[in-house]
Amino acid sequence: MRVVHLFSRDLRVSDNEALLAASKYELSFAFCLPQDFNQLLPIRAHSLIESLKSLETSLPSSLAIFGNLDQFVAAAVQNGVSAVFMTRNFDTRSQLQQSSLAEKLYGHGIALNLVGSNYAIEPGTIRKDDGSPLKVYTPFYRRWSALPVTKPISVDLARANTWQLPGGEIPQLETPPPFKIKAGEEFAHRTLERFLAKRVHGYSTMRDRADLGGTSHLSHALAHGEIHPRTILQRIGHSEGEEMFRKEIAWREFYADVMYHNPHTLDDYFDPKYASMRYRDPSQDAALLQAWKDGKTGFPMVDAAMRQLRDTGWMHNRARMIVASFLVKDLHFEWQVGARHFEQCLTDFDPASNSHGWQWTAGCGTDASPYFRVFNPITQGEKFDPNGDYVRRFIPELSHIPGKAVHQPWLLVDGLAHGYPAPVVDHATERLEALARLKEISG
Ligand SMILES: Cc1cc2nc3c(=O)[nH]c(=O)nc-3n(C[C@H](O)[C@H](O)[C@H](O)COP(=O)(O)OP(=O)(O)OC[C@H]3O[C@@H](n4cnc5c(N)ncnc54)[C@H](O)[C@@H]3O)c2cc1C
Repeated sequence: MRVVHLFSRDLRVSDNEALLAASKYELSFAFCLPQDFNQLLPIRAHSLIESLKSLETSLPSSLAIFGNLDQFVAAAVQNGVSAVFMTRNFDTRSQLQQSSLAEKLYGHGIALNLVGSNYAIEPGTIRKDDGSPLKVYTPFYRRWSALPVTKPISVDLARANTWQLPGGEIPQLETPPPFKIKAGEEFAHRTLERFLAKRVHGYSTMRDRADLGGTSHLSHALAHGEIHPRTILQRIGHSEGEEMFRKEIAWREFYADVMYHNPHTLDDYFDPKYASMRYRDPSQDAALLQAWKDGKTGFPMVDAAMRQLRDTGWMHNRARMIVASFLVKDLHFEWQVGARHFEQCLTDFDPASNSHGWQWTAGCGTDASPYFRVFNPITQGEKFDPNGDYVRRFIPELSHIPGKAVHQPWLLVDGLAHGYPAPVVDHATERLEALARLKEISG
C-alpha cells in the first residue's frame, strides 16, 4: 500500500510517531510550503529552507515539495496513494488546514491519519476536576508536571520500503542568507546538549538578561518540530536551572492547550473586553508603526530588539515583552498588528506562543500582566541590559556611548550625533494615555 508522510511542524525523523506509523507501508515524503511563503522575511524563509534541506539528508528518498494542499492532493491521487500520515497539529490554522486536507483526500478515497503530536502532553488532555480547561498557568503546570511523559520512540528508515512521489524541489531564494543559518534535527540535539552542559546551571538567573546568551535557543527547533519536547524533558534533571527550564517548556504546552480550547484566540481577544478599547489605525499611523518595525522609535532597548528580529529572525524573550508592551501601551496599536509582524519575521514562529505571548503582554490574555502595568522601556533596558552591550550590538549609531548611558542618548550632547532618532513619543504621557483608555472600557 502506497502512503505519504506529509511533514508539517514535525521536521524530524527520530521520535516521530506519525512517521513510524507510515514506515510500515510503501512510503514517500512530502512537504507543503506555507501559504504566505513569499511574504516571509527572507531570513525566516531561509531558516525554513535550511530545516527542509537538513531533513531531506536524513530521508532515504527526496522530499517532494508542493506550493499548496491542492497540488499535493492532485499528486497523491495521480500516484495511487492510499493514505497520508501526518503529525496532528493543534493550533487553530493548522487544525483547519488538516480538516480541509482530510476532506479533500476523502473525496478521492484517501485516508488522512493524524498520529501523535509535537507536545509532551497533548493539548486538551489536562483539565480541572470538573472537566473544564485550565485558564491559569500555575495549576496547569502542577497537573502537567504530575503526568508521566512517554519515552521517545526510535524510528529507523534504513529498512523502510520507499517510493518517490513526484513533486517540486526545496525552493532556493535569489539572495543568499546574510549569515550561515544552522538548522535541522542534528543541530537541535547539539544545541540542547550544549545548553545542558554550559548554560542550564545559570538559566534561572541569566534568562532575563538580553545581553547574555543565557537561554537555550531551542525555539526554532521546537517550532519546526526538529526535536520533540519529550526528548528534551527526558534529558533534564532537577537542579534549579533545570526546573526553571522545564517550566518554560510547559509555557509552550500551556499556550497550545489554551488555543486548543479557545481557537478564536489565534487572532482575537482572550478577554473580549479589550476589543472595545480605543486603538490607533495602522493605515492612518503607518509611519509610527514603521518606526517600530524598523527599530527607529528612539527608545534604544525597543529598537535594539526590533533590529535583532530584523537581522537575525530571533528576539530575546524579555525583549519580546518590552517591544510588545511598547507597541500596545505606548503606541496604542492592537496586539494583532504586532503579532502579524512577528509571524512574518520570527524563525521560531509558533501560533499559540506568539498570540498568547502578545496577549499576555497586552494585558488581555491568560495570567495577563495587568494592563495597568506599563513597561518603562528605559528602566527595562537598564535592568536587563545593564552595561548597554545589547543596544550597542544592534544599533551602530549608538556605539560611541559607553555603559548604560546608551539607554538615554538624548541626555548626552553627542548622543544623537550619528543619526539615531529622538524618541517618537513621551513615555510618561503615553502611559497615562494607556491608563485613560483602560478606564474607558472598565466603566
Ligand atoms: C510577544 C511574544 C511573542 C512570542 N512569540 C513566540 C513565538 O512565536 N514562538 C515561540 O517559540 N515563542 C514565542 N514567545 C516566547 C519566548 O519569547 C520564546 O519561546 C523564547 O524567547 C525562545 O528563546 P529560547 O528558545 O532561547 O527560550 P528558552 O528560555 O531557552 O526556553 C525554552 C523553550 O521554552 C519555550 N518557551 C520559553 N518561554 C516561553 C513563553 N513565554 N511562552 C511560550 N513558550 C516559551 C520555547 O519553546 C523555548 O524554546 C513569545 C513571547 C512573547 C512575549
